[in-house]
This record gives sequence, structure tokens and C-alpha cells, in this order.
Amino acid sequence: MDSVNDDIIVPTSRYPRIVVIGGGFAGISFIKKLRNKPVQVVLFDRNNYHLFQPLLYQVASCAIEPDSITFPLRKLFSRYSNFVFRMSEVLSVNPEQNRIITEKGSLTYDFLVVATGGKTNFFNLDQIKASSLDLKSIQASVILRSRILQSLEEAVTTTDPGKKDALTNFVVVGGGSAGVEMAGAIAEFKHNILPYDYPEIDPAIFHIYLIEAGTRLLGTMSETSSGRALTDLIKKGIIVLLEKTVLSYDGLHVSLNTNETLRAGTMVWTAGVLGQYPSGLNHLSHKQNNRLRTDRFNRIEGYDNIFAIGDVAFMADDRQQGHPMVAQVAIQQGRLLARNIMNIILHKPMLPFIYKDKGSLATIGRNRAVAEIGKIKLKGYIAWLIWSVVHLISISGFRNKILVAWDWFWNYLTFDMGNQMIQKDVPRISRK
Ligand SMILES: Cc1cc2nc3c(=O)[nH]c(=O)nc-3n(C[C@H](O)[C@H](O)[C@H](O)COP(=O)(O)OP(=O)(O)OC[C@H]3O[C@@H](n4cnc5c(N)ncnc54)[C@H](O)[C@@H]3O)c2cc1C
Repeated sequence: MDSVNDDIIVPTSRYPRIVVIGGGFAGISFIKKLRNKPVQVVLFDRNNYHLFQPLLYQVASCAIEPDSITFPLRKLFSRYSNFVFRMSEVLSVNPEQNRIITEKGSLTYDFLVVATGGKTNFFNLDQIKASSLDLKSIQASVILRSRILQSLEEAVTTTDPGKKDALTNFVVVGGGSAGVEMAGAIAEFKHNILPYDYPEIDPAIFHIYLIEAGTRLLGTMSETSSGRALTDLIKKGIIVLLEKTVLSYDGLHVSLNTNETLRAGTMVWTAGVLGQYPSGLNHLSHKQNNRLRTDRFNRIEGYDNIFAIGDVAFMADDRQQGHPMVAQVAIQQGRLLARNIMNIILHKPMLPFIYKDKGSLATIGRNRAVAEIGKIKLKGYIAWLIWSVVHLISISGFRNKILVAWDWFWNYLTFDMGNQMIQKDVPRISRK
């Protein structure tokens, strides 16, 4: 490898260099398997932390603090002798030169692993993109939290009934686990915080809508779990609109395909995810959701030394469908690819990826969740307990686990959510 022209400086190494783009679930599980192995691993991420995305909605709903679900990437691998971190956005890949180009310079690689995850799919609806909030980053969740609280502060002072109505209506679009959990969390806020902290607001005018285009919620789970989630959400006072599509949103009016219009000052968009990755590989995307097509070894079609793992990878299975964009797929692909790249280096055969589905979970708030583990379907308290333990175990860092456990414990005991800081002057929308 000719690294003379590299303008990103990394320590010299006599071992092959693996460049990893993205320190999400896929990237970190890949690197963990290569600890002190005879390879140099250079990780690039636009952020200096790993983010535990499944709990972003809890930051947005005041249940936990943002730094409880982030963990510094340097700290995560500080004891790895073969690990290098560079915080930088990777802009493009030049496969002919085995080189990545970042905002801070370029670097050559022997192997490239693209683990860049996904971004929110707004289905080319620009007005909705400009006016709604998504739930894909720490910044977005903090903005959403501030927006919810700010809306209530404004609702207290406004004398305009129409404006008050809009400020106390919240719309969540997308009935997958993120949408269901977000709507459930806003309902907890309504029941446990609103009557005490905002006595000026009548809870009867506080409405939460959950809109799903499909015929049922939690489309990746069974019909039984979908039905249970629906019942729980309705019991919590959430207005669930199925088989309805949002056509436009101007920051105040939500227009549906059924000619109905809702008034809402806050709309959270969780309706879809698209793969994201640096340019240079664009011709390999799968048209349905912009993921990179790979073979069963996560090798991007047409290349021997470029791989994609996690949400960004589209690995067609026997039914020609990609794997679900969930953390378990990312983790399992990361682990196997580490083994396979070592196999390539050692001239051993690679092993094909076979996804082991460990189950699905979604919570609808205190003591309510649905869980599917193999053929077992659980609901209520036991499912909620499993959900809580699984999430707690999965968060990176002992301190973070303690912080989240403490916030949950405090909330469970007192029904209080302490993290209600409105961050002023934050940009209205933040998407990266
Ligand atoms: C709100 C929400 C709730 C979810 N709930 C669940 C759940 O309950 N269960 C579940 O299994 N899954 C859930 N998911 C999905 C899960 O988080 C993803 O499947 C998982 O994060 C995918 O891991 P990944 O490593 O492929 O990508 P990510 O975790 O998204 O990581 C990608 C990394 O790449 C970095 N990056 C991207 N592009 C660049 C670039 N050009 N240059 C440098 N760095 C870059 C990003 O900063 C990021 O660190 C949820 C997702 C969201 C958003």
C-alpha cells in the first residue's frame, strides 16, 4: 500500500490497514473482535461518540439525559494497541486508488468497511422535512425535548385558542417501534407531569396522534403483538390513525390523504429509514431504500476489499429481501466480518452470514410492552421488564448503565421526569 500521499497521519504499522467508516453498532462490534490482532484499524466517525439510538425517544421525552446514551469512541477502544480514531466526515471513496477522502484529508486502506447506518426517509416530501422533527441523532432528540416543553410554555401564555390548540397537539408519524415508543412516552408525560407542572393546561386539550400508513402498528412483529400495542396505546389516550398518510405539514397543519386536517405545532417523523454512505459507491445502491448491495460475506458487489455492514448493507436473502434495519443485524454482521477479514488475511475460507433473530421488543410506557422471543409472545409487565433489562445491558459503559437505571428507578418511584431543560436558541431542525 502506497501511503506516501496520505494527508491524514496515522501511526506506521507493518500490518494491513482496515479503515472503518462509522462507530455505530456494526462498526464497534466489528472492531471489538479485532482487539490486538495483526491489523491496523482506523475508525472514522463524524462524531466522537457511539450513540445508543433505541433510547433517543427517552431523551426527547425528558426521561433520561443525552450523555447517558453516548459513549466516547476513543475510550471504548483505549486499550486496543492496534486502534486509531479520527473524527471526520468521510466524503467519498475512491476504490481504484483504495482511498477514502474526508473533510480533513485522505487515507489509503487495504480493506474498507462501510458501517455508516441510515438517515430518515422523508420520501422526497420537502415541506415535511423542513417543518417536522426526526429522531436520528442526539441533537434531534434534544431539540424535540425543547420543542415539546417550549410548546407548553407558549400554550400557557397564549390567549389565541387556535394557537393553544396547535401547541398542545403532538403528531407522531410512523407506527414502527420508534413511533410507538415515542407516542407512549409523550402520553406518560401527559399523565404524570402535565397535571402537576403545568396546572394551567387542561389535559383534555393535550392530544397525541400516532399516524401509520399501513394496516397495523409494529409491522415487523406478529399481528398479536400489533393488536396488543394498539390496545395499550388507546388505553393511554393516544389517537391512533391507521391506513392514513401524511401529505403535507407546514408547521401547524397536518394534511392527510383522507382530506382531513389536524392542527399540531409539533410533528415527529419516524416513518422510514434510508441507507447513507459516502459518494463513490452510489451505483451499487439498492433502489428500494438506498442500501449498498452485498454478497453473503458483506462484500460490496464488484469489490474484493470493500464491505458494508449494518443498516447500510442490503444483503439479499433467499427471499431476495434485505435484513431488517435493527441493532442485532448490525452487531452480528460486524462480528462475522471481523472473522472473515482475518480469514482472508490468513488465506482461509470466509463464512456466509446467517442472521439469528433473537426477538423483537417494543415498550408503550410504564409496565407495558410487547416482546417476541422465538414463538413466545409476551405482553405487559413481564415484557416491559425484559425490555428494560435488555436495553440496560446493551448500553455502552458502566456509568451510562447506572445513569439510565437511576433515572428509570427515580421515574418509576416518583412518576417524575427530572430532565426538563429547555435548550434555547437550538436550531429548529438538526439532521446529520
Ligand atoms: C429512534 C430509533 C429507535 C430504534 N429502536 C431500535 C430498537 O428498539 N431495536 C433495534 O434493534 N434497533 C432499533 N433502532 C435501529 C438501530 O439503532 C439501528 O439498526 C442501528 O443503529 C444500526 O447500526 P449501524 O451501525 O448500522 O448504524 P448506526 O448506529 O446508525 O451508526 C452509523 C455511524 O456512522 C457514522 N457515520 C455515518 N456516515 C458517516 C460519514 N460519512 N462519515 C463519518 N461517519 C459517518 C454515524 O455518525 C454513526 O456513528 C432504532 C433506531 C432509531 C433511530
